[in-house]
Amino acid sequence: MNQLKDKVAIITGASSGIGYEAAKLFAKEGAKVVVGARRKAELDALVAEIERAGGQAMAVAGDIQDEAVARHLVEVAVGTFGGLDIAFNNAGMTGDANPVHELSIASWSETLNTNLTAAFLGAKHQIPAMLTRGGGSLIFTSTFVGHTVGFPGMGAYAASKAGLIGLSKVIAAEYGAQGIRSNALLPGGTDTPMGRAVANTPESLAFVQGLHALKRLAKPAEIAQSALYLASDASSFVTGTAMLVDGGVSITRT
Ligand code: NAP
Repeated sequence: MNQLKDKVAIITGASSGIGYEAAKLFAKEGAKVVVGARRKAELDALVAEIERAGGQAMAVAGDIQDEAVARHLVEVAVGTFGGLDIAFNNAGMTGDANPVHELSIASWSETLNTNLTAAFLGAKHQIPAMLTRGGGSLIFTSTFVGHTVGFPGMGAYAASKAGLIGLSKVIAAEYGAQGIRSNALLPGGTDTPMGRAVANTPESLAFVQGLHALKRLAKPAEIAQSALYLASDASSFVTGTAMLVDGGVSITRT
């Protein structure tokens, strides 16, 4: 308890899956959370759940591709809760499951804009608020896909998520002297609507589970615990890393 006492956090992709669990966990650990996604009803339900548990939360509904939304998330954090210490840039989509030669530029752009450009826009507005606090922690949700496993049909997704690792490392170098840490979190297959959409038949689920040494998908709450580690002072000397939380995908060959 209280690992994030007196901290203010933005969490995107909070209407579902990993972000939803992270918002509840961060609030339970004492953070005031600003939660973002497009689906307002889900965010409102999350805020109500956090408040029932004694926490504090505000919802910002909107498309993360829109810079005004990135700006507004920070304005709410600063205006309502007095500042910003943590940003979990976690919203994402997989995009069309086509091989590269059948991938449209529209589909490519939608995936890159949602997963990579939106995270850049988020960081662009989050960093100045963190600098006024004397530091902070940025976390970007990347993936094992394209990093340790080249997953067919996920070219745009893998490219966008690799981009997040590069972006995160440069931010770590640019702002480390000013107390800002920046890390990429690379989950393995996780049991969320996104994970279930990829592993959508018994055969594909068995295949994905089999990629992991632990022979199962992660629970979203397990990934949230790793985000908590990167958000909290427990990781005070961790920056510029690409942290695998992948159930052993990277060391599995059978
Ligand atoms: P999820 O349950 O489908 O959640 C995705 C979240 O992103 C939702 O809250 C969704 O909210 C939000 N989102 C998507 N597009 C958005 C947009 N344009 N504007 C605002 N919000 C948007 O999936 P998840 O598994 O928790 O995914 C969370 C992150 O983990 C993603 O970045 C994903 O790539 C990454 N990841 C997932 C897995 C896995 O196996 N599940 C593995 C590795 C990495 P709305 O629909 O309400 O907008």
